[in-house]
Amino acid sequence: MRTRFPPSPTGFLHVGGLRTALYNFLLARKNGGKFIFRIEDTDQKRAVAGAVENLIETLKWAGLSYDEGPDVGGQYGPYIQSERTNLYKKYAEKLVEMGAAYPCFCTAERLDQMRKEQEQHKMAPKYDRHCLHLSKDEIEKLMTAKTPFVLRQRIPDSGGAHGGSVMWKDLIRSAVTFKYETIDDQVLLKSDGFPTYHLANVVDDHLMEITHVVRGEEWLSSTPKHILLYKVFGWKIPEFGHLPLLLNKDRSKLSKRQGDVAVEDYRRKGYLPEAVINFIALLGWHPGGDGVAKGMATQEIFTLEELIQKFSLDKVHKAGAVFDIEKLDWVNWQWRRKKFEEQPGEKSEKLLGLCSEFLPQEWLADKEFLKRCLITIGEKAIKNPQEAPEHLGFYFKKSFEIAPELIANPKMKVDMEIAKKAVAAVAESLESFDNFTDQEALKIRTMEVIQKLQLKNGQVLWPTRVALTGEAFSPGVFEVLWALGKEESMRRLKAVIAKCKMLL
Ligand code: GLU
Repeated sequence: MRTRFPPSPTGFLHVGGLRTALYNFLLARKNGGKFIFRIEDTDQKRAVAGAVENLIETLKWAGLSYDEGPDVGGQYGPYIQSERTNLYKKYAEKLVEMGAAYPCFCTAERLDQMRKEQEQHKMAPKYDRHCLHLSKDEIEKLMTAKTPFVLRQRIPDSGGAHGGSVMWKDLIRSAVTFKYETIDDQVLLKSDGFPTYHLANVVDDHLMEITHVVRGEEWLSSTPKHILLYKVFGWKIPEFGHLPLLLNKDRSKLSKRQGDVAVEDYRRKGYLPEAVINFIALLGWHPGGDGVAKGMATQEIFTLEELIQKFSLDKVHKAGAVFDIEKLDWVNWQWRRKKFEEQPGEKSEKLLGLCSEFLPQEWLADKEFLKRCLITIGEKAIKNPQEAPEHLGFYFKKSFEIAPELIANPKMKVDMEIAKKAVAAVAESLESFDNFTDQEALKIRTMEVIQKLQLKNGQVLWPTRVALTGEAFSPGVFEVLWALGKEESMRRLKAVIAKCKMLL
């Protein structure tokens, strides 16, 4: 088996492109085959500077290695079509000799006019074969006069020797048929001698002995043209499979307007390559398994190795696949946790390693304190280390305003009076307590206070937590007391008691 990924360097790699690359990679790896990477840059007008480098970089980041190519600095580089242009011309000329291609001298203006008329008559856009009917003499005259021309593919006439249609058994969509009359006489060679995608793609797939062409659904209507080329050349036709479209949540075609579509964007935002690959693999594919039949939760987290083992095209769906960013976030979180747990070392050290690059320099001064703080927000830090400063901010504030409506919370049945009473009682009890390194002991001590006050847990714990943090959301009271330690905890509680006095 030989598969390929042949992107055009027209910009950053689209998530759909990465999925195509991944499926081809998985197929080759699973079957002990080869995966070929080729840059299709014959349309120089659409080429974007830096795009080739970005494609190479992105595949590397994603862990998708390829097996062949020209030697660049001791490594394989991708095959690059613009370095192979002479080759394609030769094949185009062969097609003319065989009567499977013909020169077309139509000007851009004529083609424009033709298209407009077709539009007016609600006809599908298609070359009207004006130049197919030129006589040998006419062609010679135009050639001698150096009239610019392109070479067009001669699609057979319906009812001719080949019947009236092209049919193939698609690896994903079963039998697909295109009638000849619906297929355009495609330009194969442009007036500047450069091949179009169709010619270069087929020639290269043949020369590179590609056995399986797996690509996006948008190439479906190109496939009959390609099959006809294979037939006239007498080449072995590869298997074709067309992957379902990627959709936005509202089931429209995945577009930039509704979110990021470049792999680059996710990479820049710090998504793990393992997570992106895992998530993208599941866009239109799932290995199924026992759980599916039993209605149980199915496996969602796969390593690249597992994907290689489990991947098969018969489990790829025909229907479009929804790109759900929330699922990507979830998969990314699972991957973060998995990698975190697999990493050797002590938890707080690992958290520090994960988050320190995102934290203000001055927070790193007292590492032991910082590590305790990190432990209290553990899962959040693992989920998104970039957001760690947000969750930790209150620990590093020397003073903060406490909004009366935050500490006096009617939902918790806390008014200002209760808040003051609760915080004062907790502070008083903790003043004579020294075991701040034991969260369980802190809890027992505080529960005693609650019992004495004959209040509900929330009526004491809410104002105490707010007094310590100034936040509506934070880790719980005992974790915060433990992280802050006695001195700072007492300082904060007393400051709030003083403020409550003023408010009452
Ligand atoms: N160069 C095409 C692209 O940009 C390749 C399509 C194909 O796989 O044949 O996607």
